[in-house]
Amino acid sequence: MTKRRVLVTGATGRTGTLVLQKLRQHPAQFDAVGFARSEAKVKEQFGDVRGFFFGDINHPFSLKPALAGIQSLVILTSAVPQLKAPPQPGERPEFGFEPDGTPEEVDYIGQKHQIDAAIAAHADHIVLVGSMGGTDENHPLNQLGNGNILIWKRKAEQYLIDSGIDYTIIRAGGLLDKPGGMRELLVGKDDQFLAHPPNGIPTSIPRADVAEVVVRALQEPTARNKAFDLISKPEDDPSASITTDFAALFARATAGL
Ligand code: NAP
Repeated sequence: MTKRRVLVTGATGRTGTLVLQKLRQHPAQFDAVGFARSEAKVKEQFGDVRGFFFGDINHPFSLKPALAGIQSLVILTSAVPQLKAPPQPGERPEFGFEPDGTPEEVDYIGQKHQIDAAIAAHADHIVLVGSMGGTDENHPLNQLGNGNILIWKRKAEQYLIDSGIDYTIIRAGGLLDKPGGMRELLVGKDDQFLAHPPNGIPTSIPRADVAEVVVRALQEPTARNKAFDLISKPEDDPSASITTDFAALFARATAGL
């Protein structure tokens, strides 16, 4: 495998940080760089800003230098719902989004900017991390700040597929801050896990396992042109056998949204 230059956006996010750290553990295979908005946050999480580009995915000119010379792009940017005010007892919490930070702006237009700019930079593969639930307009996450976040994420996925570049679309279940490498991972499609969780298991997965799947997707040819939902069996599930063969995992996933 020749060394690939990889840009991770959303690299100060909770999963993005793990992806960049993991890629940097393979210096012979990857020249991994990050894209972030905040120098202070990068310093806090990575110690220094070496290997980082700064900008905003809504300002395409700031993406250009970050994408120059890359072969792969990993998109881990996402709008983040913000609590408007602490709820009074008995009240429902109300959420909104930061200015220019709505799901339409970040999860759709911002992702489109990245896809277009990566193609213009002659990248050959984009890994996009999204979320399960996008087939259901009434999913509670769509109600947060009336942002329709899952709908916009799914539109961006379709845009990526239609763009013609090789893609890997990972739609994660509920993200857990738990150790990775200790579970059996399951791939699915069209939110079938949400409708029918296998044996009623929680439809969740550690961020560390999602990050590992991103790294493997950059390594395994069977991950190209696949879009899939991703959950894990619980750690203590007696029927589970820890996933180690990622080529086989990707081979079970299919092309198209
Ligand atoms: P996260 O911590 O919320 O990180 C989001 C990242 O996007 C942050 O680094 C943020 O930058 C960056 N970002 C937002 N707007 C930006 C902009 N305009 N320009 C540049 N960067 C911008 O992400 P996560 O919780 O690890 O989630 C990863 C993915 O999985 C997301 O797509 C999420 O929706 C999805 N997912 C989440 C769950 C869950 O249970 N939470 C479940 C399934 C899937 P700053 O660091 O500067 O804020």
